[in-house]
Amino acid sequence: MFYEDKTLESYDVLLVDVYGVIKGADGIIAGVESTLKKLVQSGKIVVILSNTTQKSGAAIASYERLGIKQNVHFHEVVTSGQVAYELITAGEIHFRSRPAPRKFMVLGTPRKELFVDSSYVESPITEADFFYISTPQLSEDEVARIPQNERKELFGSKLFAENRYDSLSIAPFLPQLKRMHELNLPALNANPDLIVLESDRLTNSARYVIRGGSIAQAYEQMGGEVLSIGKPHTLVFRYVLDLLASRHGIDIKSARMATIGDTLGTDILGALQASKEFHVSIDAILTLTGVSAASCNQAIINGGSRCDVEEELQRLFEREGITPDKVIASLGFQ
Ligand SMILES: [Mg+2]
Repeated sequence: MFYEDKTLESYDVLLVDVYGVIKGADGIIAGVESTLKKLVQSGKIVVILSNTTQKSGAAIASYERLGIKQNVHFHEVVTSGQVAYELITAGEIHFRSRPAPRKFMVLGTPRKELFVDSSYVESPITEADFFYISTPQLSEDEVARIPQNERKELFGSKLFAENRYDSLSIAPFLPQLKRMHELNLPALNANPDLIVLESDRLTNSARYVIRGGSIAQAYEQMGGEVLSIGKPHTLVFRYVLDLLASRHGIDIKSARMATIGDTLGTDILGALQASKEFHVSIDAILTLTGVSAASCNQAIINGGSRCDVEEELQRLFEREGITPDKVIASLGFQ
């Protein structure tokens, strides 16, 4: 399973994750730019499949700024935000508890671009039918309300251009979630990622900060209803398969496909579930440039001077109950 050379040669279609695969906290991961170019040149269809609340167009623009270009390094981008946007625009958001919701409110960074072309209306919490989980970041005002001695534990010190802070835990969001639950509001989540590695400008180090998936998980644990769009949920894979057939003439029943991702619970589980549900062949390939490498780093921090990567990974697979088909060290080494 581990570190096979030229692992990607045998595939027709590659579904590539972004954070932890193409991009790390400090930009494009070494070697990835040339690997992607080589894959496109050798005739493979490369689809970037990312859990992010950005729409595909905005994601493409952000990759181009990093030197990763459409038709040179990839053919298509599908973001969970794009799939959510299309459902929202079509008025196709349905919850078990609210089959025909009309009014929404936003939790986290107040970005509403997924709703601008829809008939859903933003409203105060007391009138809302559901809430949309935006990027879980805090404003300076919200940070100011947290006692000084708790701030370091709770927050990354990255200050965004929009003056918003990432959070290391869900703690600052729990009071709001409790209020939502009291009002029986279901949640819409367009980024099932639990955490993402972000660079911290003040300490010049990288830290794991929470994303929508962590908020969704906490809300479900309270008993709240969540509609999640993005990996590992299969709706985004259905969207990709339709795109491959309609725009690239791919026979999805016979195509040899693979997902390359760094996260068991999203990329790997998603590929395994989609293969089964749609009766297609999507191998699940784990790369060690992102979050799954952390288990080995942690083993070293916990006192080991070295880490047996294979042993640590097997332990991780058992703990999560998810095992990839293959493991590669880095997309940049392919
Ligand atoms: Mg990732």
